[in-house]
Amino acid sequence: MQGSCHCGAVRFTATPPLRPVFVCHCTQCRKTSGHFWAATSVPLDRFQLTHSDGLRWYRSSATARRGFCGGCGASLFWQPDGEDRISIAAGVLDGQTGLHIAEEWFLQDAGDYYTTPEPAEQLTGSCLCGANHFTLPGPMGPVGACHCTQCRKLSGHYSASFDAEEASLTWQQKSIAEYATPGGGRRGFCPTCGASLYFRGADGGFSIEAGAIDNPTGGQLESHIFTADKGDYYDLTDGLPQFKGWD
Ligand SMILES: [Zn+2]
Ligand SMILES: [Zn+2]
Ligand SMILES: [Zn+2]
Repeated sequence: MQGSCHCGAVRFTATPPLRPVFVCHCTQCRKTSGHFWAATSVPLDRFQLTHSDGLRWYRSSATARRGFCGGCGASLFWQPDGEDRISIAAGVLDGQTGLHIAEEWFLQDAGDYYTTPEPAEQLTGSCLCGANHFTLPGPMGPVGACHCTQCRKLSGHYSASFDAEEASLTWQQKSIAEYATPGGGRRGFCPTCGASLYFRGADGGFSIEAGAIDNPTGGQLESHIFTADKGDYYDLTDGLPQFKGWD
């Protein structure tokens, strides 16, 4: 099975069988992906990097590191120290995976915008390493989930974001890399930890990855778009409207 980041600077092969997908809602995984994390895993002897120019590692805890692409910011890997295996974001695998979600972890840390929204007058956002901190007026606007190939590659699963006026953000700390997407947009991520932060469309529209905001957000997930490009390893069961394309 093959996988890659969005820009192609990181490519790999993973030889099945791959472990079923585990979903994690912990704060680290939420900031890394911009929504929440879904990963399979494979022993290292069945994993091969075929293109690693873009690969960056961030030591996210005393016992593990996270791999992302320095070129496009795609969230790709999680690797625990001292174990002969690597976790791979399921959304960066190409084509049919035949996998399914088997476990959900750290639901107590899940975002309020896809569980139970809590009131929020001001939103605070940050990346995983702390090099980026910003605030903007709350509550978070309606949250849209996007399952297009670009969002899947960059987030590692699928994206969830809300629109905001870029000028309404106040940055207390800022260290951003921007990836120019094929559609003319710019995708902002932290070059140190790889956290997904924002997207600026070719038309100037600006959206923030919902997982970058610290709870409470006051936002609510509203719909799913580009479900025609959805990964085969998950189902959408929340009852929200689904659209094959934009709408
Ligand atoms: Zn890349
Ligand atoms: Zn960071
Ligand atoms: Zn998308």
